[in-house]
Amino acid sequence: MAAVMIDGRAVAAKWKEEIAGQTREMIERGVTPHLAVVLVGENAASQVYVRNKENACRKAGMGSTVIRLEEDCSQQALEEVVKGLNQDPAVHGILVQLPLPAHLDEAAVLRLIDPDKDVDGFHAMNSGRLMNGQKGFVPCTPLGVMKLLEAYDIPVRGKHAVVIGRSNIVGKPMAMLLLAADATVTVCHSRTQNLSEIVRQADIVVAAVGRAGFVTKDMIKPGAVVIDVGINRVDGAIVGDVDPEVAQKAGYLTPVPGGVGQMTIAMLLHNTLEAVRLHGW
Ligand code: NAD
Repeated sequence: MAAVMIDGRAVAAKWKEEIAGQTREMIERGVTPHLAVVLVGENAASQVYVRNKENACRKAGMGSTVIRLEEDCSQQALEEVVKGLNQDPAVHGILVQLPLPAHLDEAAVLRLIDPDKDVDGFHAMNSGRLMNGQKGFVPCTPLGVMKLLEAYDIPVRGKHAVVIGRSNIVGKPMAMLLLAADATVTVCHSRTQNLSEIVRQADIVVAAVGRAGFVTKDMIKPGAVVIDVGINRVDGAIVGDVDPEVAQKAGYLTPVPGGVGQMTIAMLLHNTLEAVRLHGW
C-alpha cells in the first residue's frame, strides 16, 4: 500500500492561523511581537529564506526587521548589530541567517545572541537546555518534525528512530527531541558503517543529509515513517533526500516540497511568540 503523504502545508497553515490569533491578542494587550533577522552578504538561498520569513511575519501580523550587511562586513560590525538587538526592548526574537561568509566567526556570533531572544535555538545555552530536558528555544526544523508526528498521531514512545545527519541545526537536536519523546534513537552520519542495515531497522527515519535521493526503497522497513528534511536543487527543481519510490513501501512520508520545510517557518513564528511570553507578556 502506498504511504500516507504527510501534508506539511496543511499542518503549518493551522499553526500559522493559531499564531496569527495569538499575535492579535498580544497586540491588543500592547505588545507587537517582533523578529529581527540579520543577513550578511548576497547568498541567493539565504535571500529567499529571509524573504519568506519576512512574509510569514507580515501574514501573522508580527513586526519584522531585516538588517542587511555587506558581504565583507567585519566581525566587529556584525557583533555590534547583534548587541544592539539584544538591548532593543522592541525586538523579541533575533535570528542571524546562516551560513555567514567564511571570514566571519559564526560560533562567536551565535554565542553573542541573548539566549532569551535566540528563536533559532542555536545558542549553546539553548542546546544545553534541550539536552538537559529544560525549557528553552528548540531549533525550528526538528521542532517542526515533532509537530508533524503529533499532528498525524504517530507514536514515538519505544520506537526505533534513526536520524541520518548530525548537524547542530537538524540532526543533533532532532535526536534529542526524539529521545525526549521516549524513542530509542540511533544517529547515522558520513562515517557510519552499514548505514542501510541500520536504517532498515527503523520505525521512524529522519533524513537530514543534503543529498538528493539518498534514502532508497531497499533501505526502508515496510510501514516505516519517513521524514525527509533534505532540500536539494536538481535541474532547477527542489527535491528531498528520500527517493520518491520510498512511498511504495513506507507507512508515512513527507513530500519535498510541501513537508518539513513548511513547518520550519511556522515554528520560527511560534518561537517568536514564546520569546514575547518569556519577556513577561
Ligand atoms: P549539514 O551539511 O550540516 O549536515 C549534513 C549531515 O549529513 C552531516 O551530519 C553528515 O554527517 C551527514 N552525511 C553527509 N553525507 C552522508 C553520508 N554519505 N551518509 C550518511 N550521512 C551523511 O546539513 P544540515 O544543515 O543538517 O541540513 C541537511 C539537509 O536538510 C540539507 O539538505 C538542508 O538543505 C536541509 N534543511 C532543510 C530545512 C527545512 O526547513 N526543510 C532546514 C534545515 C536544513
